[in-house]
Amino acid sequence: MSGLTLTARCHCSFASFTYTIPHSALPLKASLCHCNSCRYASGQLLATFAVMPSTIPRPDFSRLNSYASSSELTRYSCPKCGAYVGNTEPDEWEFASGMLTSTEGLLDRVQMWIEDTKDGGASIWLQKGHGTNPIRRLRDRQSAEATDSIIEEMRDKSQQEISSSTKPRPSYLTASCHCGAISFSLRPPPTHKYPAFLDACTTCRQTSGFEITSWIHAPQSHLSTTPNPANPSSDSSSPSTSTSASTPHPSNPNLLHYSSSEGVHRYSCKTCTASAFYVNDKRGDSVDIAMGLLRGQGGARAEEWVEWMRGPQYVGDAVDGQAGLVGALGEGMGHLPAEEEDED
Ligand SMILES: [Zn+2]
Ligand SMILES: [Zn+2]
Ligand SMILES: [Zn+2]
Repeated sequence: MSGLTLTARCHCSFASFTYTIPHSALPLKASLCHCNSCRYASGQLLATFAVMPSTIPRPDFSRLNSYASSSELTRYSCPKCGAYVGNTEPDEWEFASGMLTSTEGLLDRVQMWIEDTKDGGASIWLQKGHGTNPIRRLRDRQSAEATDSIIEEMRDKSQQEISSSTKPRPSYLTASCHCGAISFSLRPPPTHKYPAFLDACTTCRQTSGFEITSWIHAPQSHLSTTPNPANPSSDSSSPSTSTSASTPHPSNPNLLHYSSSEGVHRYSCKTCTASAFYVNDKRGDSVDIAMGLLRGQGGARAEEWVEWMRGPQYVGDAVDGQAGLVGALGEGMGHLPAEEEDED
């Protein structure tokens, strides 16, 4: 059969698959999913998937970790490096598209479940009409389009909620993966907000399974493993009892630890796959926390707590080329209005 050779491989290569895709099946059906389940089970602001043609036999994922996030959907990950490998559903199966060694021109993408984000999530940076930005759907593939005006409305509503004087920012930010094994809170940022950024680097892609990853920088000392410090039953009167349930450390039984290079530690949830932490020994107290775990009041971008840096980092590493998803995000983020103190 003539066709395109498609290789999917995680960072450690434990999960490695090669298929020949008939040219007639290209481009592949693909999605950028903004849904809550994908966000919490991936740790990413948006999850990128490539659906395999129905003529391609289902892979043997039996050596991988599996997590059924619903009766229909099972998520698979590499048990060694933690990369999110893909999903199986009754009617189709898909790879997390960061697993693919190339995606340039191969994916016919749709943005889905924008409704779940409350604030538009990453879709505010992928506006219709900019380059090849995929159409935005409020819910599934067949649902209504999330038009520019709908997204604008979501964004405004979320901003109002954040700035409303009747709803002050809570004294902590909670974070949790889909299964709840990773659950913690963050103290208020040292400066006015935590810096957040998208990262397209090859190592993040291959260890996460996603084409674009999302993180915030925070001091490790701001992490509290007590999920709800405001709850008297878990008060800080006995801080020593809140052991390391969600602490980024190799000894943490809830976390899969993978060293992607010397002194660099990546942690993901052993149960549900979610990326959780990036720790670099050279950076002292600093930790990068997977953005998708954060439970901001205003929505997925958690803008009452974080400030987004302009443009993804390591755009040159984008697996779909400069004109693809990462390039489009860069363009979208570059057009973000500058933070102005007196903006009303
Ligand atoms: Zn989803
Ligand atoms: Zn792996
Ligand atoms: Zn989990």
